[in-house]
Amino acid sequence: MTRSAPDSCPGVLRLHQAADGPLARIRVPGGRLESAQLQVLADAARDLGNGNLELTSRGNIQLRQVRDASELALRLGEAGLLPSETHERVRNIVASPLSGRIGGFADVRGLAVDLDAGLRADPRLSELPGRVLFTLDDGRGDVTTLRGDIGIQAVGTEFALLLAGADTGIRVGADEAVGVMLAAARGFLDLRGTSETGQWRLHEIAGGVESVVETLRRSPAGEPLELGAAHDIPIGWLDQDDGLVTLGAGVPLGTLSARTTEFLAAIERPVFVTPWRSLVITDLDEGPAETVVRVLAPMGLIFDANSPWLRVSACAGRPGCAKSHTDVRADLTAAVDSDRILPPTDTLPPTDNQLIPAEEVAEAGRQHWSGCERRCGRPHGPVTEVVATEHGYRIDRADEATEPGTAAN
Ligand code: SF4
Repeated sequence: MTRSAPDSCPGVLRLHQAADGPLARIRVPGGRLESAQLQVLADAARDLGNGNLELTSRGNIQLRQVRDASELALRLGEAGLLPSETHERVRNIVASPLSGRIGGFADVRGLAVDLDAGLRADPRLSELPGRVLFTLDDGRGDVTTLRGDIGIQAVGTEFALLLAGADTGIRVGADEAVGVMLAAARGFLDLRGTSETGQWRLHEIAGGVESVVETLRRSPAGEPLELGAAHDIPIGWLDQDDGLVTLGAGVPLGTLSARTTEFLAAIERPVFVTPWRSLVITDLDEGPAETVVRVLAPMGLIFDANSPWLRVSACAGRPGCAKSHTDVRADLTAAVDSDRILPPTDTLPPTDNQLIPAEEVAEAGRQHWSGCERRCGRPHGPVTEVVATEHGYRIDRADEATEPGTAAN
């Protein structure tokens, strides 16, 4: 597949002109944010944006309606959130958020730091398309489900090399994992060339995985792993291996207000942005953890694993996207508030391709709502699609829906 348009992924230095104003995307490799960085993001959202942070499906952060791009870049640079002007859009690194604290076969936190440094140290890798995704899975199989372009998953004491979301059978030690991933990234660049309109993702190149494996000069040494498609989002009270507590918090529609972000900063503990539009608040003692839940649950963060908010997602819709037929997020919020997001066990009559008014949509199970047929942000795996048309919503049930090219953000 060859694209007819250049990769237009936004960053901090290259804003996207959304229908509601300029949009900036801030890369957060490994998802980790320190409290000082959270405070900077809260201030930036309030002073320079629309007052909210948006969590993306790659564990990054977006600000909408940015008023002063230079000031934003300055503030983020001082906070360590823009360490490279040349490589900012290629730092798409997602790591298992609980790694090193709860379970997993390996601690991938250091590998995320090293991979980020390795990317930034190679001038040529700034040419990677902004859509290329690196995944570092500590063995629990969570971020592997994102089907990154280049990734590793811990298997016992070593790592499986994953390309285009599948196991290559190549096994590497922890000390060589970053080097092999960087070599694979260079191999992908060699394949796609320097054309601005070349392929954005490894899976788009016919025979691309085999060609990259050849450049690595390594033979498959293990039976390819069966990779899962689903996993549990970390939500609620989670005991760390060292006796401290982690809290997993869902963020409805991934929208975090500046005020809530300030409260998160005040906890003064590392907070991780996950690719499931949720947060992981780490290293808490039990008493403070109870206080965090007491304060942040009324502010809208979700600590209950049965919340309907954890089964739904939506694209930007109106007013952020001019292609949208409706304010899809408002429609979905109304459905949640009026108990029309039904338990996964509910059985519903066939939809018969009927178009349904927003206020009558009532669906069961995991579902993604979109403002048009592009279905941006659709999660991988089985999901019911609720798609806006000019004359109402059409429902494609999980067992009937096709999986279109997912537009990542
Ligand atoms: S699915 Fe359509 S309406 Fe929604 S963000 Fe994508 S292009 Fe816009």
